[in-house]
Amino acid sequence: MVEDKIFQQFVVNVKNNNDIVGTISNYVSVKKSGKNYMTNCPFHLEKTPSFNINPEKQFFYCFGCQAGGDVIKFVSMIENISYKEALIKLAGVQGIELPSGLVSNFSSEETDKFKIIYNMLSEASLYFFKVLASASKEAETARNYLYMRGLKNEDIEQYMLGYSFASPAKFHEAVLKSGKYSAADLERSGLIVKTDNGRYFDRFFGRVIFPIFDRSSKVIGFGGRTIQLEGSPKYLNSPETAVYKKNSAFYGINMAHDAIIRSKEVILVEGYFDFISLHRNGIQNVLATCGTALSPYHVKYIENNVNKVIFLYDMDEAGIRATMKNFELFSKPGLNISVVKFEGAKDADEFINKHGLERTGAVLSKAVPFTRFLVDYAYNKFGRRDIESKTAIINFLNPHLRSISSEISRNQYITMLAQELNIAEDGIRELVFKGMKTSAQGGGAVREDGGAAILSPDASLRRKTEIDLLHSLIQNIDFLPLFLAGVNPETVKSPELLQMLEMMLGADNLSLTEDMQSLCAQSEYAPLYNKLLAVPLASENASKYFEDLITKFNNIIRKEHIDELKMKIREAETAGDVETSKQLLQKVSTLQKDNV
Ligand SMILES: [Zn+2]
Repeated sequence: MVEDKIFQQFVVNVKNNNDIVGTISNYVSVKKSGKNYMTNCPFHLEKTPSFNINPEKQFFYCFGCQAGGDVIKFVSMIENISYKEALIKLAGVQGIELPSGLVSNFSSEETDKFKIIYNMLSEASLYFFKVLASASKEAETARNYLYMRGLKNEDIEQYMLGYSFASPAKFHEAVLKSGKYSAADLERSGLIVKTDNGRYFDRFFGRVIFPIFDRSSKVIGFGGRTIQLEGSPKYLNSPETAVYKKNSAFYGINMAHDAIIRSKEVILVEGYFDFISLHRNGIQNVLATCGTALSPYHVKYIENNVNKVIFLYDMDEAGIRATMKNFELFSKPGLNISVVKFEGAKDADEFINKHGLERTGAVLSKAVPFTRFLVDYAYNKFGRRDIESKTAIINFLNPHLRSISSEISRNQYITMLAQELNIAEDGIRELVFKGMKTSAQGGGAVREDGGAAILSPDASLRRKTEIDLLHSLIQNIDFLPLFLAGVNPETVKSPELLQMLEMMLGADNLSLTEDMQSLCAQSEYAPLYNKLLAVPLASENASKYFEDLITKFNNIIRKEHIDELKMKIREAETAGDVETSKQLLQKVSTLQKDNV
């Protein structure tokens, strides 16, 4: 078949022009190891790399999950698109045209999927830009709003800011009237929303528009800030589309990437205005996540390119919790993770507009390591007068101390805490490492690639089991009744598992089965949930595995109960209370008999 031959040649051409190491390193950080490259597998969870890239043969293979193939297979897997779509996408990246003899081999959807969306988004961006510059009263209000936020006309131009009219049909009616694009194209680009009765609305109306670009400066989506509508969300972003993945998008990457590579440092901010304020003032190595928590992909990009991360987040209680979660995702040794707290301004945008570049630079240069920041925060929160407050401090810091990937820095912080709190180092060490010991005594190999591997190796067995239960539930919602029958929810400590249970019990059936992903995305624990959602269970027999987990969990609870009783027995014995001690012993032996 001639066609087959042309197809094969096309595939070879695309592969020759898309080096597998370069392409994969767009998604994950790779390290050279002999002739090959290694990385932690993006398709299953692991702490030690088993994902192998062979540049000579141009293929990848994971020893952990057996995923493998060529560069096209990789892109299709990581983008969750078909092989043919990945082929077209990679061809497009290198400007390779689909041979005319092959056009019939592809459905028009496959060939035009990305081209149409990119064109559509780019034209939409231009449309919004022109609307903002137009003479209409609305546009003037929008421009005044931006001036009020400290922007000038040249900023509006540089960042291609736009405006969408307040009438929710104006944009898509204009597009449809032009005859260039269909309603389906608009929908696939995330620009319109279809209501239940089949009517269309513009996704963005009455909003200042921030186009979001990919690294090669192609528009992939939008963020919109409302300027007039009461009661609607302040910010709105494009939904997930074939080209917009919020887990891998960074606002500003097209402008900041070079500066980030040069300085080996990245400043992370929360919002579009934060980014623009810093960037237009000359601080260029800055990125914003697009209204979402950091994902493993974001973290890979950062670890791949820098030695220092500075979080410029709002450091209220919620911001601190979010940063603690983000911190857990990092594992690069020696990576410096610092935070900056702006005094007298609610965010970076306000601060730099008030105080200018020089003072902002001075504050940035005094960024505090996140752990030090957290310790001081705990001192303030709990006070450090008596033993109760000191215990509260250690308990608060405990999960964080365990998530520090370097043992050396963890020990340094423990020594520091002991000195500053004037308590024995051993006492702190015991509290922090208690979990590790239980885990070692617990016996049974902890699976390297299960949910547990997301946690630091010294997370307690209890925590590991709770996360494994969470993993199973996220993968199989049908297990919820089994869980509720086997586990007393009051014994659960993991806030992630508790919140998931709450969400699952509160959600309607449809969103549970159809859209687990957006349910997960709503949560502050989205990075963990997404990871668990992305990774299939390691076990063949999911329900047997789940039942074993429930047994394991209940045994842990029982053991904790026994330990507690034993402590009381010791107390009773010291006090000479033989009767109580006897009764408690009786309870212990009953509990021990129950142990499965
Ligand atoms: Zn793998």
